[in-house]
Amino acid sequence: MTPAGIGIGVMVYNYNGEVYLSDEGRMLAEMGDKKFCVGNVHTDSYKNLLLSDKFLDPLEYSMTTSVPMCSECSLEPYCGSDPVFHYATQKDFVGIKAMSPFCSRNTQIIRKIILMMENDKEIKKIFYNWIN
Ligand code: SF4
Repeated sequence: MTPAGIGIGVMVYNYNGEVYLSDEGRMLAEMGDKKFCVGNVHTDSYKNLLLSDKFLDPLEYSMTTSVPMCSECSLEPYCGSDPVFHYATQKDFVGIKAMSPFCSRNTQIIRKIILMMENDKEIKKIFYNWIN
């Protein structure tokens, strides 16, 4: 989704009270990188966690309408972003999409779904039923 669900759709509390923007962000911390740790429930208010630059920066960079490649991509309305994945694999919240498995996977899935709907009216009807 865009913006990404980090901090909006999920927040993860670790055993020691540390708060992460996603479970993948928490797992990254277990590997020694606390980039997505926004605070601690013992010392920070919920408001402080949500107003933290460590939350707002990756969220801002997850807007596909304004980042390189995604902003010009025909699949953008159906796609999303994953700043944790791109930071973990490319050390950048946005990532170079030409080198991104996230992008290539989404491209293939979205194209496949569109092709299936174009080629089979029954499948199109089923997909529309799922989203309505
Ligand atoms: S398919 Fe790739 S370039 Fe297009 S919006 Fe999705 S991540 Fe961005």
